[in-house]
Amino acid sequence: NSRIVLASRPVGAPTQGNFRLETMAKPVPANGEVLLRGVYLSLDPYMRGRMNDAKSYAEPVAVDDVMVGATVCQVEKSNNPEFEVGEWVLAYTGWQEYGLSDGEGLLKLGKAPTAPSYALGIMGMPGFTAYMGLLDIGQPKQGDTLVVAAATGPVGATVGQIGKLKGCRVIGIAGGEEKCRYAKEILGFDECIDHKAEDFEQQLATACDNGIDVYFENVGGKVFDAVQPLLNTGARVPICGLISQYNATSLPEGPDRTSMLMGTLLVKRIKMQGFIIFDDYAHRYNEFAQDMGQWLSEGKIQYKEHLVKGLENAPGAFIGLLEGKNFGKLVIQINQP
Ligand code: NDP
Repeated sequence: NSRIVLASRPVGAPTQGNFRLETMAKPVPANGEVLLRGVYLSLDPYMRGRMNDAKSYAEPVAVDDVMVGATVCQVEKSNNPEFEVGEWVLAYTGWQEYGLSDGEGLLKLGKAPTAPSYALGIMGMPGFTAYMGLLDIGQPKQGDTLVVAAATGPVGATVGQIGKLKGCRVIGIAGGEEKCRYAKEILGFDECIDHKAEDFEQQLATACDNGIDVYFENVGGKVFDAVQPLLNTGARVPICGLISQYNATSLPEGPDRTSMLMGTLLVKRIKMQGFIIFDDYAHRYNEFAQDMGQWLSEGKIQYKEHLVKGLENAPGAFIGLLEGKNFGKLVIQINQP
């Protein structure tokens, strides 16, 4: 039984030294508890925030504590009549092989789910985030131009595909030619621009020749700088994430452009709104699950997973997530299903 703990807090980009792999005895479930054998661990950008000792919407991970994270597990032992051995559940056991639970907060996935890891991606938190952020805050309309960055990740890819279902013209932004080709050929985006290209700003402006009606913000930084002048009157900007800033140790160099941004928001009556998926929308999960389940079964939504085997590879994979090295939803296979 092994686990990965936060060894020290990163300054800037996390390094291998910020994590420590530990081996220990398998935990023993008490009365009313289940022993969960982790099969899949979700790696997500928000985990970078938990490594900081800063007040946010969730508590930081303490140094020497196990890294947090959603997992898909099988019940190995059960002292709880609600759960049977062999059953699959969505849990929050973190970066470790085995975990205990009293059953609270576990989501049952059945005895033989066809794609259990989807509960961490397209049918879980990232898919739900894309759905609510786009539909509730972005309010896409037929014919709108929708722009989304981190376009091949689980949130961005889903945002763009839902946008297509709603009749938008969808422009993705992604890192590199291969991701951009995938966004166009497999996800069906109208265009995808490489943010690493020298003339990225110019290419984005050309692709958005009618301006931008909905910008789904995943990235911030220079991507937002390129988007801002293209926003149309009445544009909606759901603020979902700012991944380009998660490793930042200070504010960007000046000039301070806050007043320019506020002027744009004022004159163009633009609505920008942040959201934290489960805090704001937990009560609407069933609505999402029903629509997404149907779209998947009809082949209307494509989903790509980036599977890495072995818990010991989680730190490296996570460091890569913050540098764009993942291609699709990053999932660690902790144990054989
Ligand atoms: P992704 O797999 O899309 O995230 C990683 C991707 O972000 C990378 O592959 C890379 O894509 C891009 N990226 C990383 N660093 C940079 C950078 N410096 N500049 C530009 N792009 C960069 O993850 P998710 O789909 O899970 O998450 C997407 C966003 O949604 C994140 O910001 C996340 O924090 C946020 N989020 C917010 C939630 C909420 O409740 N508000 C819930 C879930 C997610 P590329 O190579 O294409 O640039």
